[in-house]
Amino acid sequence: MSIESIVSQQKAAFRDGRTRSIKARKSMLKQLRKLISTHEKELCDAIKQDFGKPYIESYVTEIYTLLDEIDYHLKNLYGWMKPESVGGPIVTFPSKNVIYKQPKGTVLIIGAWNYPVNLTLMPLIGAISAGNTAILKPSELAPATSTKLKELFERYFKPDVISVIEGGVDVTTELLSQSFDHIFFTGSTRVGKIVMKAAAENLTPVTLELGGKSPAIVFEDANIDVAANRIWWGKTINGGQTCVAPDFVLIHSSKKEAFIEASKKAISSFFKNDYRIGENYTAIINHVHFDRLIDLLKQSNVIFGGDTNRDTRFIEPTIIDAEWDDEIMKDEIFGPLLPVITYDDDKEIPLQLNKKPAPLALYIFTESKEKQEFIIQHVPFGGGCVNDTISHLGNPNLPFGGVGFSGMGSYHGKYSFDTFSREQGVLKKPSWPDPDVRYPPYNDLTLSVFKRLFSK
Ligand code: NAD
Repeated sequence: MSIESIVSQQKAAFRDGRTRSIKARKSMLKQLRKLISTHEKELCDAIKQDFGKPYIESYVTEIYTLLDEIDYHLKNLYGWMKPESVGGPIVTFPSKNVIYKQPKGTVLIIGAWNYPVNLTLMPLIGAISAGNTAILKPSELAPATSTKLKELFERYFKPDVISVIEGGVDVTTELLSQSFDHIFFTGSTRVGKIVMKAAAENLTPVTLELGGKSPAIVFEDANIDVAANRIWWGKTINGGQTCVAPDFVLIHSSKKEAFIEASKKAISSFFKNDYRIGENYTAIINHVHFDRLIDLLKQSNVIFGGDTNRDTRFIEPTIIDAEWDDEIMKDEIFGPLLPVITYDDDKEIPLQLNKKPAPLALYIFTESKEKQEFIIQHVPFGGGCVNDTISHLGNPNLPFGGVGFSGMGSYHGKYSFDTFSREQGVLKKPSWPDPDVRYPPYNDLTLSVFKRLFSK
């Protein structure tokens, strides 16, 4: 079936209202839950086949997080959907005023390869909760996972309600030429711009979940051992290929040596110098990305690590001594290389960071509330943590999204429901009273009555 026909079938299904009721939404959420939990091993195997991600990592970051999110939506959906009564000003008296949460319609969800199940299905949960039909386009760079998703969705859902369309740039381009009611894109800033341009043709609202260089700032008073553990935990999950991985460390110069020593200890205790792709460590997604990282590595001053293997696409967690102008400080790294840059005066931190596009995440390591607030108030970033990395994604009460070049809009929990809903304001008036004074012809008396009643 052509892409155009799938889209028009979905629009017809949306119009006939089959996805709107709370019963329908909950039953689809439960069906999705069943799909994920019944086939979690197959999904994790497909991810492992694509880029050697260990089962435990896939289970925690892709399967568990989705099941948790579905349960959260099932629990809260009634309250989110309920029309909200609001007050009104005297000019609208007497009236009842209600905000309805309407589904947007037929939505397109384009996923990235690095969490190929999570990044495609996490937005889908919001789309279902909000009462939409959805087309999913998983990343072609994780082909085994993309095919597995297609196969499972064909078994569990009718295509006029949820459909998986596989393919690369040409398929995505064709999808983007269709008229959707919302486009949810996860991927690079470069492709995000292409998506937004295409969406503008149909004035389609977009959510863009993009990337960036997310800093980890380590202040002089930080607990250095804990900082090293948590930064390297965030940097080595998924082989460093996480949109919110700490991209580089900005550390007070007096603590640099201590941080390097603590980093060596952390890396050694995590992996015992025994890296096994698919068991305790993840490979780089493909040779294009592998070669890009090797190129950066060759231009860098390696302090620790640096071992690589092109056959298995392995890159060791690597500490790099860096300066702001280095090649590795230009773009998002998306691999297990960690540049360390120093500063001497706290005031330098926002000055340096604000020269770069606002990152998706930012991490602050300090015991001082003042220093935390100083950064939070002076450096724009999507979201982040104090004394941790990545964990903010685990809380559905926190919105997840970027700012500027790292994206627009947000999701997770109720933010997902809101992203795929449209707020519709309705004023409900009784037929009585119906005073003549509101209708033309107007005269001086009308104006003086109006001014007396509604004086400002
Ligand atoms: P990508 O932008 O290359 O691809 C994402 C999607 O866009 C894929 O489905 C792909 O098929 C499609 N695509 C690629 N080129 C296209 C084109 N020319 N026209 C139309 N569609 C096109 O990103 P990626 O390599 O899959 O993922 C890595 C990037 O995604 C990193 O920058 C990372 O930070 C970001 N990311 C962001 C988040 C987030 O939640 N904010 C999560 C994961 C990854």
